[in-house]
Amino acid sequence: MARYTGAVCKLCRREGQKLFLKGERCYSDKCALSRRSYAPGQHGQNRKKVSEYGLQLRAKQKTRRFYGVLEGQFAKYFEMATKQQGMAGENLLRILESRIDNIVYRAGMASSRAEARQLVRHGHFTVNGHKANIPSILLKAGDVVALTEGSKSSEKFKAIMEANGSRPVPQWLDMNKDNGVVKVVNLPNREDIDLDVEEHLIVELYSR
Ligand code: SF4
Repeated sequence: MARYTGAVCKLCRREGQKLFLKGERCYSDKCALSRRSYAPGQHGQNRKKVSEYGLQLRAKQKTRRFYGVLEGQFAKYFEMATKQQGMAGENLLRILESRIDNIVYRAGMASSRAEARQLVRHGHFTVNGHKANIPSILLKAGDVVALTEGSKSSEKFKAIMEANGSRPVPQWLDMNKDNGVVKVVNLPNREDIDLDVEEHLIVELYSR
């Protein structure tokens, strides 16, 4: 499966915002963005006026990178979002939040979305009692994600849960840390999503 394999901290520096792509390091003073809060590359420190298209592109790239989704899949999600009722930008963010890899990360069962993706792929989770090893599965209200019996007792997961125990779990998820079970109470509204992006810019970009 295709995935981005380059240096991830560069992506945060390009977007000028923490995208939380490296697990624990993102919450420490080792974060590259805290040390060098300018764009990477030779001209990274030169301020330049950004065009309207540039702003729209940055909004899309930031969102795509935050969730670790490739270009084609992101475009498919946007198409889905436009077919739903309501605002396309908000629908898009809700769809991205409903991915199983995001929910595993949000619930504190992985240190980053990239790790969550790998754990899902390796078959550590079930959805509503059935094995689920595709990170792009979209969940809905009422769905239950659980660690498999074997994984629940593993030292690896005990360490992951301990390391991420202090990270707050959003209120739209009901997490039982002792059992490694998370229920989707409802899908999030815009105000529940902590990504600092003007999603209408993404809609404008795709409407060009
Ligand atoms: Fe981004 Fe995390 Fe790297 Fe900081 S440590 S720049 S938040 S990926």
